[in-house]
Amino acid sequence: MRAEIVSVGTELLLGQIVDTNAAYLARVLSELGIALYRRVTVGDNRERLLAALTEALTSSDVVFTIGGLGPTMDDITRDVLAEAMGDTLHPDEQIAAQLRRFFEQRGMPILESNLRQALVPSAGRAIPNPNGTAPGLLFEGRNGKIAIALPGPPNEFIPMVNDFVVPYLRTRTGGKGVIRSLVLRVVGVGESFAEDRIKDLMQDANPTVAPYAKVGEVHLRITAFAETPAEADRIISDRAALIRQRLGHAIYGENEETLEQVVVSLLQQKQQTVATGESCTGGLLSSRITDVPGSSKVFLGGIVAYSNAAKTDFLGVDSALLARFGAVSEEVARSMAEGAQQRFGTTYGIGITGIAGPEGGTPEKPVGLVYIGLSQRGRAPIVERCEFIGSRAIVRHRATQTALNLLRL
Ligand code: ATP
Ligand code: MG
Repeated sequence: MRAEIVSVGTELLLGQIVDTNAAYLARVLSELGIALYRRVTVGDNRERLLAALTEALTSSDVVFTIGGLGPTMDDITRDVLAEAMGDTLHPDEQIAAQLRRFFEQRGMPILESNLRQALVPSAGRAIPNPNGTAPGLLFEGRNGKIAIALPGPPNEFIPMVNDFVVPYLRTRTGGKGVIRSLVLRVVGVGESFAEDRIKDLMQDANPTVAPYAKVGEVHLRITAFAETPAEADRIISDRAALIRQRLGHAIYGENEETLEQVVVSLLQQKQQTVATGESCTGGLLSSRITDVPGSSKVFLGGIVAYSNAAKTDFLGVDSALLARFGAVSEEVARSMAEGAQQRFGTTYGIGITGIAGPEGGTPEKPVGLVYIGLSQRGRAPIVERCEFIGSRAIVRHRATQTALNLLRL
């Protein structure tokens, strides 16, 4: 069986996003023993998409499209693919009802454009998307050609590949077995360090281990192929155990788990509390912690103390300290952490002060320099000095990563 992937989206052509979905699907196809003949990328343009799909359907047996299934005008994949397959679309009443319920529950009016997501091919069906509103589409052409349209957002795309595409293609190719994967999430060490520790494990074909660098963390995806789900899970958990031995505490979570979720549940377990005193992160740490449902049990409050006066007035930082060491200093970070902890009466206090950039750096205190203080009841405070590289947003995000990681100690 020959396959081709057509990625759809002008943002891919502009280099604004990287086609991680196609890379993921390509790996899955190779593990299934399906020959991927070509990968192409086209913008959100009707003529060029139609030309690409027509060509793909001439030379391949199965054609995948990625993206462009949403409700907006630039989402044209559904219509153009139907045209290329010589099929027509009609509304699926069940999906339309689901969409109406979805909008009703959120108190939003449903538009005609939203209902386009309920259109399915006459020779084919919708592919369930548990993580989004746009279902995928399966076209089974009379000439034996298959087309599979999948949505762009990776958190929707990847589960649909695992749960629908893999079993479907297996039945089509008569193959047996399953592919399962697990992501281990790593914080506090760089990608090259993590990679170095597990380099030998990355050589194996089954399971495969692939690192993905994210801002302030690294994800290691373990993927196994086996006859049964239980067998695949066993291969994965053996490999995960080995990686855990190598990386230890740096692994904070699995799959979709976020660092803030892990920290909140850790504090809940230990019945501990935290408060924040933030300068350069402007409340980002508090925001991330309070993103987690149930954080009210562990997060008592935070103070955004941007000016020196606010640091003195609201966190009790000694103005002599500010004058002597400057706002961006180990001493002030410690004092902000202690101030937050004492004023809120919590187990932990976090203090963050730094230079997020792009301006404001000096040779002694460059852009990206951030001090992160942790004050803890009954233990000596800790201050980490970090020099982050990257944009303002990245520096701020990394600072909150480091702060959250300190709370895992
Ligand atoms: P939506 O309903 O969200 O509009 P869609 O199927 O129309 O979904 P797109 O609009 O093409 O998908 O893309 C939505 C988002 O998904 C993009 O902004 C991008 O972040 C991500 N995305 C799209 N295509 C890819 C891809 N090939 N690889 C990785 N991410 C992608
Ligand atoms: Mg879209």
